[in-house]
Amino acid sequence: KVRVRFAPSPTGPLHIGGIRTALFNYLFAKKYNGDFVLRIEDTDQNRYVEGAEAYIIEALNWCGIPFDEGPGKEAGFGPYRQSERKHLYKKYARQLLDQGNAYYAFDTPEALDGHRKDHEAKGKTFIYNWHNRLKLTNSLSLSPEEVQSRLDSGENYVIRFKTPQDQLLELQDSIRGTIKIDTNVLDDKILFKSDGMPTYHLANIVDDHLMEISHVIRGEEWLPSLALHHLLYISFGWKAPEFAHLPLIMKPIGKGKLSKRDGEKGGFPIFPLSWNESEGYREAGYFPEAVVNFLALLGWNPGTEQEIFNLAALVDSFSLDRVNKSGARFDPEKTKWYNHHYLQQKSNERLASDFMPILAAQMKPAELPDSTYVTAVVALIKERADFTKDLWELGNFFFQPPASYNEKAAKKQWKEDTSSLMTQVANLISETDDWSASSLESNIKGWITDNELSFGKIMGPLRLLLVGDLKGPHLFDILALLGKKKSINRIESGIK
Ligand code: GLU
Repeated sequence: KVRVRFAPSPTGPLHIGGIRTALFNYLFAKKYNGDFVLRIEDTDQNRYVEGAEAYIIEALNWCGIPFDEGPGKEAGFGPYRQSERKHLYKKYARQLLDQGNAYYAFDTPEALDGHRKDHEAKGKTFIYNWHNRLKLTNSLSLSPEEVQSRLDSGENYVIRFKTPQDQLLELQDSIRGTIKIDTNVLDDKILFKSDGMPTYHLANIVDDHLMEISHVIRGEEWLPSLALHHLLYISFGWKAPEFAHLPLIMKPIGKGKLSKRDGEKGGFPIFPLSWNESEGYREAGYFPEAVVNFLALLGWNPGTEQEIFNLAALVDSFSLDRVNKSGARFDPEKTKWYNHHYLQQKSNERLASDFMPILAAQMKPAELPDSTYVTAVVALIKERADFTKDLWELGNFFFQPPASYNEKAAKKQWKEDTSSLMTQVANLISETDDWSASSLESNIKGWITDNELSFGKIMGPLRLLLVGDLKGPHLFDILALLGKKKSINRIESGIK
């Protein structure tokens, strides 16, 4: 059975790289009717951030990719927080010690630092491995009695993995194929510490095994750990899951990985974790569907030109063999393009109700229009909006008369006879009973033709008086929606 897991460490808000990992795991699980497990990897107490776990769960729910199994959703493989599984790991560390795959080491941080510096001085890099092991303070270099007495005296220790020497490993990755690694370049990673906590490597392998994980899908930054993980599976005699390492998400321009510092250019989180952080995708007005859609195409391609995928379509089309090896460049414009697309899919009523709080912040309570009016405005302007908040910029003149007129446009549009022509337009439309866009249009256009005027002479100035600028939807739609009274008011007060 397909069982995958998203295994974040609760060290802060989720950035898009993390959510993409979760998404690909989710898609893979759903595609094969498998289980999507959330496991909280909180063994590193120093990096633990309050609230981060709830945040992760909320973020997955917001994106519409909830987990099937995890904290609060027990299904026989829990607990799902590594801190609550603490009692499990010791036994596995012991097993490795007993088998000779691991050893105790007593080197103090200062001693290790000294070794590092000595090597550096000679232009070399210090690696804790077969080459140095016997010169360092560990159970391979000390007598069994010495080791026991150090342990008995409560001295701090770590348990390190004894990486085999002179082996050429052939590792398999579903995205990258075969990866060859010489074990001589690996260091003896720490698996367990005297505070009773396992490190990431040990806890991760033990839990993937106990939780019967079939596929490990994670970011490329974990590729360097693959050799150790592979060796751990062999040492335990367990069948390893299949591994797939997702390509990095790269900065929009230049070299390197997209990072938090890229902020609005895509690096910001799904939403902020706490009050003192800047906004995230949710606050910026992204729809979850848009985030899911653009994330899916960061590193995966459908093999066709299709770009729009809802979640169901993604589940349908997703496969690991269409995940690229090379880094995926983040494109902020494309991200907006997706949001634009999904905004157009929303009903006018829904957009109007999302728009209401924005209007309420801009206007006096007594002036707030009703939802029917707002819905009608939205219908006219949404075509140009990427985000709900754009609706104010695009349509504020529907809610308030122009506070000023675009000067450059006014200079160009306003001729000697414009004021008198505008007065005539006002008179003409004040006599109109059928205040619909189409009858206004035939009325005004008829009048223009009858008087042998040019359209440009009338339409530009009229728009300027109603909108304050030369932008906005179809002029007759604006008139129709504003209504007779407001339209005539704006014309009259503009020409004064
Ligand atoms: N806890 C690791 C992380 O924070 C998990 C890596 C893995 O999936 O193995 O990303």
